[in-house]
Amino acid sequence: MGGVHKGQERNQRELMTRAYWEFLVHGEQLQAPIPSTKENNRQYLSAQAPFNRILSKCYASVSKEAAAVLAGIFPMDIEIQMRNCLSEIKHGRNVLFFDEQITPQTFDSIAHCKEYVRLRALDCWQNRWETSTKGRISFEFFPDVFHRLEGPPITFSHHKSQVLTGHGNFGIHQLRLGKSEISLCPNCPDFDDDPVHRILECPLFGEVQEQIREINGTWPPDLTQVPFIDNDEVFSALSLDLTPPDVTLE
Ligand SMILES: [Zn+2]
Repeated sequence: MGGVHKGQERNQRELMTRAYWEFLVHGEQLQAPIPSTKENNRQYLSAQAPFNRILSKCYASVSKEAAAVLAGIFPMDIEIQMRNCLSEIKHGRNVLFFDEQITPQTFDSIAHCKEYVRLRALDCWQNRWETSTKGRISFEFFPDVFHRLEGPPITFSHHKSQVLTGHGNFGIHQLRLGKSEISLCPNCPDFDDDPVHRILECPLFGEVQEQIREINGTWPPDLTQVPFIDNDEVFSALSLDLTPPDVTLE
């Protein structure tokens, strides 16, 4: 299966963002800026999350924070603030954008202002992602939201998304679901069974580690390059269920 082209992924994101916007906000911005209250932010983010999970083919249990980064789509509350800010600037008014006073006179064009506002919004998202307690496995693969948006496109598969989120057949996840009483690797009692352990050190995954070494050309692999691997065999091997099957004795 061929990967998506950069332009294609951009278009897809743009369409999704426009769809959220129409669906969630439907023109409210025409009347007045949407107040950025905690409750508003929470509602918009929750409404957006299922779209991001579909786009990145991940489980419903994946946090909204991680789903937004995987999908490469600005959290809705930040998107709203960006739009409100640009709308005010277009009307020649000063506006407070993430605690920063933005004045129309500072910019020689709307395009310039748009670029600046986008960079500030990325900073804010990055800061939020770095300090979040959610999606810490995904953070290992996607530490930088700017790189997610500007870097090469990613083709997701169900297996790949399990590895990139840690939601799947991993001890850490089985424990969370109550399907297991421990999160440890069945082979390495000192380590949690999570995707990073499987990729970097677990001897049970020697074969797939060799495959990754061949694809990336270095060892240990740079985890931020793992999302760009297109061979789904790698991810289906990495998301293998290690739970021993029930043995029935005669
Ligand atoms: Zn292990």
